[in-house]
Amino acid sequence: MKQYKIVFDRKACIGAYSCAAVAEDIWNFDNKENKVDIKLAGMKGDKEKQEVIIDESMLQKALDSAEVCPVQVIKIIDLETGEEVKRS
Ligand code: SF4
Repeated sequence: MKQYKIVFDRKACIGAYSCAAVAEDIWNFDNKENKVDIKLAGMKGDKEKQEVIIDESMLQKALDSAEVCPVQVIKIIDLETGEEVKRS
């Protein structure tokens, strides 16, 4: 199964929460900081930058959250090509 990486620039997140509204199994809301965190197992990173590897079963939701983010701080990378994947 193909694998992808979600790369999240948490520092630039403005807490609009749209990502979690479309993919609540990927994002957790942090009330204290008014930002989200990746909540999937295997998440790497810290408060500034977070990453996690996903497979095709999560791809659509990940792409949806990237698409609705008003500040475009969520990127989905195809691990095979290294290219960014956009919702078609
Ligand atoms: S949609 Fe973007 S800005 Fe809003 S909470 Fe999600 S990552 Fe942050």
